[in-house]
Amino acid sequence: MKRIYLHKAKSQIARPNTIRGINKQIVLAYVRDRAPISRAEIARETALQRSTVSAIVDDLQFDGLIEEIGIGDSTGGRKPTLLRIKAGNPVAIGVDMTPRHTTIALADLTGRVLQKETFPTSPDVDYMSGQIIERVEKYAIENEKNNIEIGISVPGVADQTTGKVRYIPYFQWSNWDIARQITDKTNLRVTIDNDANAIALAELWFGEEINRKEKNFISVLVAEGIGTGIIFDGQVYRGERGAAGEFGHMIVGENAPVQCSCGSRNCWEAHASEKAIMLRFQNQIKNRQSKNSDITMEQLIKLASEGDKEATEVFKETAKFLGIGISNLIMGFSPQAVVVSGTIVRAWDLIKDEIEYLAERSVRQGLPQAVIRASSLGDCPTLIGSISLVLARKFASAN
Ligand SMILES: [Zn+2]
Repeated sequence: MKRIYLHKAKSQIARPNTIRGINKQIVLAYVRDRAPISRAEIARETALQRSTVSAIVDDLQFDGLIEEIGIGDSTGGRKPTLLRIKAGNPVAIGVDMTPRHTTIALADLTGRVLQKETFPTSPDVDYMSGQIIERVEKYAIENEKNNIEIGISVPGVADQTTGKVRYIPYFQWSNWDIARQITDKTNLRVTIDNDANAIALAELWFGEEINRKEKNFISVLVAEGIGTGIIFDGQVYRGERGAAGEFGHMIVGENAPVQCSCGSRNCWEAHASEKAIMLRFQNQIKNRQSKNSDITMEQLIKLASEGDKEATEVFKETAKFLGIGISNLIMGFSPQAVVVSGTIVRAWDLIKDEIEYLAERSVRQGLPQAVIRASSLGDCPTLIGSISLVLARKFASAN
């Protein structure tokens, strides 16, 4: 049961179009999850009137959200026309800023990337604003007939209500108003969020089917730092002014191999991020001339999967700290699942057992156990995250 907050009651009173809006959202959800599907099947499964479904489908086709894909098998009467989400039509521009690279991508309503461009991220905030705006504007002009919106994922704290990036620790930028700058230039709607929150949203809408059914889970992004996104009751929990989920800074031990972006050596990020992994490897092979320490995370994972002793050791050690952090999250939230994303997922077979062992130890007798699994979002989860900021809004607000 949700408490009714009196100062908000006005906006909670159902407006006449609310029921139709909800029905529209339900129909769109059926088309998204069960395509190819006919109007009759939707009516049967939702118990909506056949005429209501037809009217809603007309609206959704008019909005360019769904399309007909030919004729299905007949179950007696007339052969039904099948429906699916309209693909290939650009509806979102995703801006994915990571500490090293920034990617700008054009995507359709199914989340497929149609075009993208990547450039190095610069610590010069004005230069970066210019670079991002220039590219976003180009895509916007090329697709001005489409109802395009923009989603921005940043490695820092972003306040969705003001559209401002409050702080990016890597570059020590504060109050970056990139969303307003883009809107001023393009007149397009911009949604901005922290990278881990954007990934959590992507898991909820575009991850494995099982994620989409879960209402409470935590997404853990292991990258240059560690970010966590909390899905609570089917939506992202952002906390006051977007500052929730900063578990990268929870204390999991002392004397980490690297400093956290906040400067401490006790944080989870300092013990279990890619930064920590790479430095652990360099420390391991310090006295061995035969090994090249200047390698990428992907190369290190490849070495470990080929059985290299030092590389394997690095992942086992890191898995221990990942497991400690995840077990703390499970104890605090009792989620249905914890979903890990980032390049480290490629080394899942090497780290899975250690993480599960530590997490299991922390679960008290008789309490529900959370499933820990690798993300299905692939190698660019933050890019999918930025696109999801737009798509989730389009699906969730089809009224
Ligand atoms: Zn920290």
